[in-house]
Amino acid sequence: MRAMRIALSLAALGSLLAFGQPAPASIERGTLRLHYVQKPIGYERYEVTPDGDLSSQSANGAKGEAVKLTADFDFTDRGGRVQLAATLRARADFTPISFQAKGKSYRFVNVDSDVRVEGSDAVVRADGAVESRVTLPAQFFTVDGYAPFSAQMLLLRYWKLHGQPRVLRTVPGQPTNDVFIEARGREAIRIGEKVTTLERFAIDGVVWGRETLWLDERGSLAAAITRAGGLSFEAVREDLEPALVQFVQRATRDRISDLESITRGNAPLKSGSYAMVGATIVDGTNRPPVPDGVVLVRDGRIADAGSRAAVPVPDGVPTVDVSGKTLVPGLWDMHTHVTQIEWAPVYLASGVTTVRDMGNEFEFITMLRDAIASKRALGPRLLLAGLVDGPGPNAFGVNYAATPDEAKQAVGRYHDAGFQQIKIYSLITPPLVEAICAEAHRLGMTVTGHVPNGMTIDQAATAGMDQIAHLAIRGEAGSDEVNRIIGVLRDRKTVIDPTQSWNELLGHAAGTPIAAFQPGVAKIPPPLNRLFSNAGAAGIDAAAARARLERGLRIVKALHDAGVPVVAGTDEGIPGHSVHREIELYVEAGLTPLQALQAATIVPARAMKLDGELGTIEKGKRADMVVLNANPLERIQNIRSARWTIVDGRVYDTQALWRSVRFQP
Ligand SMILES: [Zn+2]
Repeated sequence: MRAMRIALSLAALGSLLAFGQPAPASIERGTLRLHYVQKPIGYERYEVTPDGDLSSQSANGAKGEAVKLTADFDFTDRGGRVQLAATLRARADFTPISFQAKGKSYRFVNVDSDVRVEGSDAVVRADGAVESRVTLPAQFFTVDGYAPFSAQMLLLRYWKLHGQPRVLRTVPGQPTNDVFIEARGREAIRIGEKVTTLERFAIDGVVWGRETLWLDERGSLAAAITRAGGLSFEAVREDLEPALVQFVQRATRDRISDLESITRGNAPLKSGSYAMVGATIVDGTNRPPVPDGVVLVRDGRIADAGSRAAVPVPDGVPTVDVSGKTLVPGLWDMHTHVTQIEWAPVYLASGVTTVRDMGNEFEFITMLRDAIASKRALGPRLLLAGLVDGPGPNAFGVNYAATPDEAKQAVGRYHDAGFQQIKIYSLITPPLVEAICAEAHRLGMTVTGHVPNGMTIDQAATAGMDQIAHLAIRGEAGSDEVNRIIGVLRDRKTVIDPTQSWNELLGHAAGTPIAAFQPGVAKIPPPLNRLFSNAGAAGIDAAAARARLERGLRIVKALHDAGVPVVAGTDEGIPGHSVHREIELYVEAGLTPLQALQAATIVPARAMKLDGELGTIEKGKRADMVVLNANPLERIQNIRSARWTIVDGRVYDTQALWRSVRFQP
């Protein structure tokens, strides 16, 4: 065994040198510029140095020179500093010996990992948990999330030197983690006269979903695109900075083609003309449920719907027996950031057929929308809100407006690209709120977003915002001030997406397991599990966290009772499952199960002026429906029981969709 290891190690070293990478005796340094949604926000600096002879250091006596990566990852996002330091020691063939990472990889994501390889075991400590010993397979790597990117660079070098395995185990994991790597070809990046040839890779499993990384001819990292906090995060070597958008476009084309291949592997079970027969129909209007109902679907629309007696199935139309099940309108998520293609199967799997995107990378979201709209790719219908922020170091993204003219231009650009809405962000000044709203309304768009700094929610509504994201109301339900604010919102018919599931997820006491309120967490892939095991508020106990949530829920109920449209939105959270939690929370707030369901169906359809087409199961509307195993009006948690999802008349198997993106069904 030991002899074999040495042989492998020497062979690996030989191929390493032949591969043209720096000999271990030299020092390799790199600087990557970090970006959040294309805005430059910081740097990762790394160094790979020789690290002595293994024979004096290694427990198992292996020989050869070791290398040591030290990386310093550091950025500032909207005023908040995020720093992480990591060290990775490895043999010359990049087999890890030890790995430490400590700090934050995103505003609310703490990283604290320590891995020591001892023979065929690893001693792992992650996130303050007690040390555990895991047995390693023959091939493995150590990495903990996307940061530092230079660790992923060494992961790729390891993978190339070890036969490019289809699956590679990584530690730490919960309990284990698998990474899938694919070489996606070579390409030339052009900056002026200069052409740089790079090799492109897709990595799936370091984070949930696929990342794109590029290596240069020496095996050094040229660029990487991943997601942080649910939004796109880009690292580009300093000299390649002008090619940022080329990298984004290239990665986007790769990802859309991945979604097209998921789509080919998940053909609709039915489309065209058919009849769904025997289910209880909860049509989403205020009419009572129809037991033993029939829904006729023809060419993507509901040709008829009602009781079996009222809606005969025409001769020759195939039927689908859904007796015992419940049909509800397709769900909506009114606060999403669909920043990766894996969201598309997740949404359909959880019964969501329409989402409103609240800010994203322009290139990615428009290409994804077009792929879904043209039916090349499966996914929910995408309605887009284009984000505009004020300028300055604390701004978000790259679409700013500092003057009314700039505001008009920003609105016009989104309008021309087919966006339905503008999303105002925190740094927009009050006069610009009015300018943006006026221009958006002139072009037939609506405006949503954050209440900008220095304004209150009622001022934002009065300045013209049609909708407001998050529950930006201080005080207690029933107080004079809250009543006054709710009165303004009611008079202006302002739509609110209160994102209560998001508040609950981030605000729950760190000691309370997420599974206590979100059963979906048991079904998510390991990288998301590790991410969310970290979420939660420190220094607050379970009772105080619950009291804070309940204050919000009382306001949601007061808004609803006053006639302010409340629409279900998640701001992401636990993919798919947070939509269900949002609906459940409205029932906890005191809405009836039907009212909660309507907050995720007809109320958002009305808010987006699409209620003539969507939002209920009624003759003439688009056939967007969910077949649930159990009736949510009897128990709202049954909203989690989607068996088939129908979008535009195409019927998808939810279990296969969950599996296609590494969730358990
Ligand atoms: Zn958001």
